[in-house]
Amino acid sequence: MAISILKGDITHQRVDAIVNAANSSLLGGGGVDGAIHRAGGPAILEECRALRASRYGRGLPTGQAVATTAGRLHARWVVHTVGPVYSETEDRSALLTSCYRESLRVAGELGAASIAFPAVSAGVYRWPAASAAEIAVAAVREAGTDIEDLRFVLFNDEVLEAFQRAIG
Ligand code: ADP
Repeated sequence: MAISILKGDITHQRVDAIVNAANSSLLGGGGVDGAIHRAGGPAILEECRALRASRYGRGLPTGQAVATTAGRLHARWVVHTVGPVYSETEDRSALLTSCYRESLRVAGELGAASIAFPAVSAGVYRWPAASAAEIAVAAVREAGTDIEDLRFVLFNDEVLEAFQRAIG
């Protein structure tokens, strides 16, 4: 698997799967979630609502992942995952690792060969950039996956540089 690091807006990526740093409601939010729903259009929200009405009545649990259509995005699927809110008193890194592992599992089961990840939890959920990047890179390196092309698409310089350092 080739891992690359890019700066930019993840909604502009042409890949099989775009990962969304969603919240457990699956009904949209700010940050990358808002950008994905705006760019992808209402079909994504419609499928998220259907998931809330069926499999995920109480929302998507933190650390898990689920796929929907990608609507108008240049992708086949959006894989929604819910990162943990950063805590100074509790180590939630296993949940953040799980976001990457589960997203790769879901995308791999669908047959995706390429995937783009944002820096899950590194925005509104306040995870420090250096740690978020180290956890992300370790998680994808450890995951057994058939995906060939994995991209981290980072929106700001601090997070971009943290990922560059983490990848070595
Ligand atoms: P979380 O709630 O998991 O912290 P956020 O969306 O608030 O999710 O932030 C996650 C990361 O996504 C942050 O580093 C933020 O700068 C970045 N981000 C926001 N918009 C985009 C976008 N359009 N493309 C890629 N990354 C984005």
